Amino acid sequence: MYAQRLDRVRAAMNEQGVDVLLVSVGADLPYLIGYEAMPLPRLTMLVVPRDAEATLVIPRLEVARVIERPDCFSIRGWEETEDPIAVVADLCGRPGVASIGDQTWARHLVDLMGFLPSVQWRRSVELVGPLRAKKDAAEIAALQAAAAAADRVAVQLQGGEIPLIGRTESEVSDELSRRLLAEGHSHVNFAIVAAGENAASPHHHASERVIRAGEVVLCDFGGTYSVAEGEPGYCSDMTRMLYTGEPPAAFRELYDVLFEAQATGVAAATIGTAAQDVDRATRKVIVDAGYGEQFIHRTGHGIGLFEHEDPYIVEGNAVVLEAGHAFSIEPGIYVEGRWGARLEDIVVATEDGPLALNKADHNLVIVER
Ligand code: ZN
Ligand code: ZN
Ligand code: ZN
Repeated sequence: MYAQRLDRVRAAMNEQGVDVLLVSVGADLPYLIGYEAMPLPRLTMLVVPRDAEATLVIPRLEVARVIERPDCFSIRGWEETEDPIAVVADLCGRPGVASIGDQTWARHLVDLMGFLPSVQWRRSVELVGPLRAKKDAAEIAALQAAAAAADRVAVQLQGGEIPLIGRTESEVSDELSRRLLAEGHSHVNFAIVAAGENAASPHHHASERVIRAGEVVLCDFGGTYSVAEGEPGYCSDMTRMLYTGEPPAAFRELYDVLFEAQATGVAAATIGTAAQDVDRATRKVIVDAGYGEQFIHRTGHGIGLFEHEDPYIVEGNAVVLEAGHAFSIEPGIYVEGRWGARLEDIVVATEDGPLALNKADHNLVIVER
């Protein structure tokens, strides 16, 4: 699997005229070789020359963490007294064009530029981004497992197992986080709980505000999930809406529009459709119902090793969906000072049509406690 990914990235290097790819901190490294660099000042960098074997340059003391894959790359541990930048520069040869990851520490790039003064630098997202956006079978299975784990928490929430009334948003957020871990996530990336007027702020996190009876509660949560020990984790991300008691007609009306918009967005996410057309289809439902001004963000984002990555489901993104593209469909309607709602699933474009990974009830769920 990793050998195939390296083959694909080399094909992209050939197409784009890139001589060497340099991958350090960030998601490209686990994608390509199954190893995640420690985000520390000591340099870890995979050197992938277009026509030669790949080498992982890594601090000697971290070599033991690496699962060796001799068919994919060799390992070059560097000693504390060595300059790892010189080691990398040496492995690069004399490249004309080098591609480097966005998350690479600037100090490492600056030092490399000193060793390789005449190189033309590019962003590796141009090479690896389109590959990472199209999930292979193993990645779809990993996203499915992550979504199922998040779904189990959503079902607990919707079933009233997690009390809301009288607790603070933070307390509920903590409980969602504990349950995400209990359902198998290796860590929690976020657990947004927004009650009442806080639900009108899309990136509100959770506060000391107490949740009362008779108000809306927005829960948007996700984490990182590994299907097997040592395998890189894939992300979950979902949003469901609750009401503590009987919702007023005006909120029901808003929610019905949102529900239809989200379902329309999922149905529109077919192979051959441009990402921006999925956004347009979703948005049209909300605009036609008169809430256009209250839908203040894009329809969705790609998801995989990172919770936000290509492809973005947004106006201006003409990328055409292909089998394996995975992304969120998460329209929202936000009425400042009053309330708001968002509904989110992770969806994969497949030959058989859009596959929504999240199955938990999409309706507005009324809870009594
Ligand atoms: Zn976001
Ligand atoms: Zn979310
Ligand atoms: Zn999301």
